[in-house]
Amino acid sequence: MKEILFLSGKGGTGKTTICAALASLWEKPKVIADVDVDASNLPLLLSPRLLSQSPFQAGWEPVRDEGKCTGCGTCREKCRFGAIGEDLTIDPFDCEGCGVCAWFCPEEAIVMKEKEVGKIFLSETPYGPLVHAELYPGEENSGKLVVEVKRRARLLAEEQGLDFILIDGSPGIGCPVIASLSGVSVCILVAEPTLSGLHDLKRLAALLRHFKIPGYLIINKADLAPEMSSELLNSAEREGLSFLGSIPYDPEVFECLRLGQPLPLVSKGPASKALLEINGHVYKNIVGGGEQ
Ligand code: SF4
Ligand code: SF4
Repeated sequence: MKEILFLSGKGGTGKTTICAALASLWEKPKVIADVDVDASNLPLLLSPRLLSQSPFQAGWEPVRDEGKCTGCGTCREKCRFGAIGEDLTIDPFDCEGCGVCAWFCPEEAIVMKEKEVGKIFLSETPYGPLVHAELYPGEENSGKLVVEVKRRARLLAEEQGLDFILIDGSPGIGCPVIASLSGVSVCILVAEPTLSGLHDLKRLAALLRHFKIPGYLIINKADLAPEMSSELLNSAEREGLSFLGSIPYDPEVFECLRLGQPLPLVSKGPASKALLEINGHVYKNIVGGGEQ
């Protein structure tokens, strides 16, 4: 099974638009996963039909039994995070789930329960089954949720006998990105021709080198800054990344976002043509089935 992960140094580089476009162009059956659990946007472009959803639990939260509580205030005194108010209510945003309040409560009135921090969704799309997730606002454990989304995508691929998983990753190089790299066969980096794009590319390339994952580069909006695009290309060569192609700036991309459809389905413009070409290179170099 081959896992192909799309990453970018920051949000707004066009990674998800490119991932959705390639998902629509690939004829090979595959599972699609969106592991950007803080802002899952891939479903917006793939017309998903929800099949099921399940809660995702991680960490612990204290639950106070008012029937047993005598109001002694020990829990409030012991809480180092100031999460328990004078009226003994527990503020879920301040609570760190340490369990000290439950440990010291003389009446055993507080029990620690597993906490629901998000949801995982399974949908069908015209391009293959889709697994994605949502982490509730303010919750941590995004790395754990990424791992769970990937686990479910792998299970689905095994059950349905599919050889490929196409994954839209999180932006940046933080915990969710590192969690998403485990087991990945190939990573496609999407960069824009800016100074920060160049800086981000080097950081991502170093990360891929560390995990020994082969990396590829797509330059988006390449024509907006041709000199910087050349610098990205030179840097990619130095960093050991293979080049898949450039996409020019094309206002029709906004139309695809407005319509909620993959770009090749709604446009025959320059960006769409570039994506067709890139898809051929992806097939030849990554999927291993020759040019599509
Ligand atoms: S320590 Fe236990 S009994 Fe005392 S106020 Fe807290 S919950 Fe109530
Ligand atoms: S679990 Fe820890 S942080 Fe949360 S209320 Fe209890 S003592 Fe405070």
